[in-house]
Amino acid sequence: MPGRLHNKVAIITGGGSSGIGLESALLFSSEGAHVVLADINLAAVEAAVALVKQRSPAIGALAVKCDVSKEHEVEELVKTAVTEFGRLDVMFNNAGIMHPDDDNALNTEERIWDLTMNINLKGVWFGCKHAIAAMRLNKTDTASGLHTGGSIINTASFVALMGAATPQLAYTASKGAVLAMTRELAMVHAREGIRLNSLCPGPLKTPLLMDFLNTAEKRDRRMVHLPMGRFGEAIEQARAALFLASDESSYITGTDFKVDGGLSSCYVTAVGEPILPPPVNLAPAK
Ligand code: NAD
Repeated sequence: MPGRLHNKVAIITGGGSSGIGLESALLFSSEGAHVVLADINLAAVEAAVALVKQRSPAIGALAVKCDVSKEHEVEELVKTAVTEFGRLDVMFNNAGIMHPDDDNALNTEERIWDLTMNINLKGVWFGCKHAIAAMRLNKTDTASGLHTGGSIINTASFVALMGAATPQLAYTASKGAVLAMTRELAMVHAREGIRLNSLCPGPLKTPLLMDFLNTAEKRDRRMVHLPMGRFGEAIEQARAALFLASDESSYITGTDFKVDGGLSSCYVTAVGEPILPPPVNLAPAK
């Protein structure tokens, strides 16, 4: 049985993370996609590629050092994917930061605002821009199950949909803008076979959030609001991204795809411990 991304070529930014990036890289490659993993941290992204090659030896995998906030680096990244693998079917704009000094309207410094916007928003725009140009050139090849156009997935967040009295103003604003930008681009490119969707993860047990919630008090303050009584796992985001990347989601574009364990639909949570354990991530636990 061919995999769900058989023969497709995917770029994943933030691919050096041990969170959503790495889980998506392992999952996409296990479903037949050649993957180009990009990150500002070269050592991390090289380690991710080594793991992909170990798990899926028949699959092409490439590590690229790229700062998504620099347009020429994103342009080079897309060129590298197309030169190496002949096309670009999936662009997963997933790299993002959550700065420890990001706070409320009064305390957030302009440099933190600019840094966050440059990576979380401008970086996603650059990713969309250069991916769209490449996807327009994709040839349809029915025998290989490939077609023109492609799928672009932009990682936003549940904070783009809900307010929190534990503010991260720049982060929240950047993610809200990702939703608006993605929706608009989805409309522009809908008839070209290029789909764009936002992924809205809930709070996850990844280093990004766990480094930030570094005390039991901070974690408990959030936990009481989580309908499933647990943080999400990176693999749960990767599975949603796989669906959005594949042709199974061929009629889905412009959506704010929520993978938040019900958080954004919740007023009052249930009591008691969750009956089911969380799924196990593909990458070895650190
Ligand atoms: P992570 O910190 O584990 O991974 C982010 C990766 O992005 C890191 O490898 C980092 O090196 C890379 N990166 C940072 N700046 C970069 C830049 N300028 N250019 C290229 N790469 C850069 O985070 P994660 O938890 O896997 O989150 C991935 C995405 O999901 C982010 O966009 C984040 O905002 C979003 N998200 C996370 C959560 C959560 O709870 N973890 C919730 C909602 C949304």
